Amino acid sequence: MVVVIASENKGKIREFERILKPLGFDVISKSDAGMHSDIVETGNSFLENAKIKAMETYKVVKLPVIADDSGLEVFALNGAPGIYSARYSADNGLNATAESNNKKLLKELDGITDRRARFVCALCFVNQDGECFDIVETCEGEIANEPDGNGGFGYDPLFKFKGVSFANMSSKEKDAVSHRGKALLTLAKKIGEWK
Ligand code: IMP
Repeated sequence: MVVVIASENKGKIREFERILKPLGFDVISKSDAGMHSDIVETGNSFLENAKIKAMETYKVVKLPVIADDSGLEVFALNGAPGIYSARYSADNGLNATAESNNKKLLKELDGITDRRARFVCALCFVNQDGECFDIVETCEGEIANEPDGNGGFGYDPLFKFKGVSFANMSSKEKDAVSHRGKALLTLAKKIGEWK
């Protein structure tokens, strides 16, 4: 089955591809499917945003779509950066990068010993006929005192799962425990039952 990923985030698309390909899905990005416009994320939760991205993309590409909205919630920061994870450090028209986001997070947590955090992944799947279902999964861990490792993307160098940063894990190790890995596996099973 060809499935369009409603994202242009290369790190995310790489993860979708490596998890879904062995399960029999051909993954293409929304621009490869002919959709070049950006989608405005107006939702108040990961799930609302995933649904918006999935339906907007489906309306244009008319193919099965998976949309993901994901991010990091830090306990001591009342859930921030949350749905604003990608643009956490955006300031005065300057774009946020993974480095600037990680830097801001470390600054906000300076002197705070409670480092509990979790990644959240909301997925919405729309089938060929425009019917949809959704899944939300989390991965609990903690924020390191400094970046550790070169792999992955986004907040991976700062997020430790059982003492190991995501950026220091192999793809296989991350996918087995991550928010996105767990959500995609559940989703693939559900699609199989649904077809
Ligand atoms: P979205 O494209 O609005 O869903 O933004 C998600 C943002 O959350 C990404 O740009 C990353 O900053 C962060 N994020 C989500 N999942 C991960 C992950 O698996 N590792 C590291 N950062 C992540």
